[in-house]
Amino acid sequence: MTDRARTFYLTTPIYYVNDRPHLGHAYTTILADTMARYRRLAGDDVWFLTGTDEHGDKIAQAAAKAGITPQQLADRNSAAFRDAWRQLGIEYSDYIRTTEARHTKVVQAILQKLWDAGEIYLGKYGGHYCFGCERFYTEKEIVDGKCPDHQTPLTWIEEENYFFKMSKYQAWLIETVERQPDLRALLHREGDRRRQVPGPPDAAHLDRGGELLLQDVEVPGVADRNRRAPARLDPPRALPE
Ligand SMILES: [Zn+2]
Repeated sequence: MTDRARTFYLTTPIYYVNDRPHLGHAYTTILADTMARYRRLAGDDVWFLTGTDEHGDKIAQAAAKAGITPQQLADRNSAAFRDAWRQLGIEYSDYIRTTEARHTKVVQAILQKLWDAGEIYLGKYGGHYCFGCERFYTEKEIVDGKCPDHQTPLTWIEEENYFFKMSKYQAWLIETVERQPDLRALLHREGDRRRQVPGPPDAAHLDRGGELLLQDVEVPGVADRNRRAPARLDPPRALPE
């Protein structure tokens, strides 16, 4: 131990605003708040982030059902999240909303950099998609033709879009994750389970699951202005097993 404070950064997932907060959100946030409080008491310099993800199909669908715009739904439900955290005494350092200009600006800057470096290409992708999870599932992950999380049928989606060349970084990513066992748990909850039984990396899995779909935020440099980029850059959903 040294007397110099360590820096401790902690974030919850950014929660979807397609609905109001429920017990699961509260559970995660209370755990994070507990950890942040403990670290503060231990003398660490703590930054505790939470917030709301206000982009995606689920939100557009829920807004249409309620007869309001996605932004109106996001405003209403994001306020409900902040109110819940106030009532529970959650002491976060910052609350980020993906519809905030400060968030969009950073996403645009990162994507612009990737575009200028030639890392983004126009391609076609087809896959089994779950609207509940907002992700594609590989053949291996599908259980009885259904989403393993929601137990609902998947929709085959095929579209032309811009993609990030994740496959180019596959070897580096696998190597980095393998070298740091803790990273597996951080990147995806599956990693937590698989840490117990490490197996060989699944190249096809990572390659397909790792492609990023660009759909929500306008990227100034991209030739086709009608296309939009994701509100956030996710780590690949499918990690090497
Ligand atoms: Zn699902």
